[in-house]
Amino acid sequence: MSNEIVIHWFRQDLRLADNLSLSEAAQQGLVLPIYIYDDVNSNDYDLGDASKWWLYHSLIKLNESLKNHLLIFKGDPKTILLDLIEKYDVKAVHWNRCYEPWRIARDELIKKSLKEHNITTKSFNGSLLCEPWNNLKADGTPYKVFTPFYKNACIKATPPNPPLPKPFRIKYASGDSKITLDDLNFISKNKWHEKLNWKVGEENAHKRLLNFVENGLTNYKKGRDFPSLDNVSKLSPHLHIGELSPSQVWYAAKTVQESDSQEHFLRELGWREFSYNLLYHFPSLPKSNLQAKFDTFPWLKNQKRLSAWQRGQTGYPLVDAGMRQLWQTGYMHNRVRMVVGSFLVKNLLIHWHEGERWFWNTLLDADLANNSASWQWIAGCGADAAPYFRVFNPCIQGQKFDPEGEYTRKYVPELASLSSKYLFSPWEAPKDVLDEAGVVLGKSYPKPIVEMQQSRNRALEAYKKIQSIS
Ligand code: FAD
Repeated sequence: MSNEIVIHWFRQDLRLADNLSLSEAAQQGLVLPIYIYDDVNSNDYDLGDASKWWLYHSLIKLNESLKNHLLIFKGDPKTILLDLIEKYDVKAVHWNRCYEPWRIARDELIKKSLKEHNITTKSFNGSLLCEPWNNLKADGTPYKVFTPFYKNACIKATPPNPPLPKPFRIKYASGDSKITLDDLNFISKNKWHEKLNWKVGEENAHKRLLNFVENGLTNYKKGRDFPSLDNVSKLSPHLHIGELSPSQVWYAAKTVQESDSQEHFLRELGWREFSYNLLYHFPSLPKSNLQAKFDTFPWLKNQKRLSAWQRGQTGYPLVDAGMRQLWQTGYMHNRVRMVVGSFLVKNLLIHWHEGERWFWNTLLDADLANNSASWQWIAGCGADAAPYFRVFNPCIQGQKFDPEGEYTRKYVPELASLSSKYLFSPWEAPKDVLDEAGVVLGKSYPKPIVEMQQSRNRALEAYKKIQSIS
């Protein structure tokens, strides 16, 4: 190891273990660990409020792990890196790769510029099980359908590299920054976040992973569809910001006996890879319909209905429970994400962009690849999309996946005393049943903002027209 200074630029890899870039930097010389909040190049994809909350707490934890050596900056990374290189006579800059199109473009420019200054740059894979450019079909084109992608490419074909331990020893270079984490103003003043109850950071991520593998994974295949059960991992925010690597999750899940549940869970990690694959090969994924024929889809603009959806006031209890779970906890169960998504784009015929934007701002796991790919899937305009005629019925979904109403009653307490028979369609309850449960439709709980059958038929007609375009 030399005394040359190497920058490790933390991005979506806020961890010490299984961090190839950091480990190599530690072996090479004195490490200057930095985080840059880039609000210059992100444009429409500046962090949402929920992501900022998580990031703030995660950076505090990371700084503790780095024995208070983390330097925080804000602005254009190219300028900041060039300043640091000059100030500290830095010889190399390391980072783990990110895959959002704007970051790829920015990083390419940075690499070029640093090369011109004779600075070594090294980038590594720190967020994916396999690199998207290695996941091509035999004819050299990218996969657009999940099952063959999962079977033939990615982890099924080549198991991921086993995770690395934390660097044995990090010798730090000393440096300073004019700003602190608090200067980034990540914590909004309106206190919406006070109810958030998440344990953030690498150590807590590992605790959650271990707990899930020991207690939740065995029943994952069945239990993952029931939002009141504790059978999903809730690892998505940790994975997004890189407090955990997918390889750590993959190998932890592999420690239990093989089962359908284990296979199903690994498959979900495969969906994450697939989304990144789509984003990498189709960088317009967040903005443009992958199926161009959807460009003429007759979306409706209706601010009142959009607000009712956002606030959990649609009159459909499962939809409202999901949207309120999102608002109160920064998370929503996957089954319910599908239900609320279908309701927005099909029953309300509101553009999937509106859903994508709302989720981007409110989800703690807001992730450009997963969010865009999932919304395109829901809207039917994506690569491997939900069949156009699948319109989730929130009443049936509720009866099936929240049969005791535990989840729905928790987030829609004004219906807590309503019997399960009418919980998902309170407008069908006789007056005496509503009276007994203390529900006054239109007052204590909204009447449905659209009629289910009518809105379903309207959606099917619009979708049929689009399907007929070749
Ligand atoms: P688990 O069921 O425990 O799964 C483990 C991990 O696998 C997850 O943490 C996630 O990384 C990955 N995964 C699971 N399901 C999916 C999926 N369908 N697609 C891609 N990866 C998956 N996920 C995000 O991480 N960020 C988003 O912004 C996001 N937006 C979504 C928007 C919509 C409309 C829908 C329908 C889904 C979205 N998802 C998103 C995917 C999925 O809902 C979440 O990854 C999952 O609910 C996270 O909870 P979990 O960690 O308990 O999942």
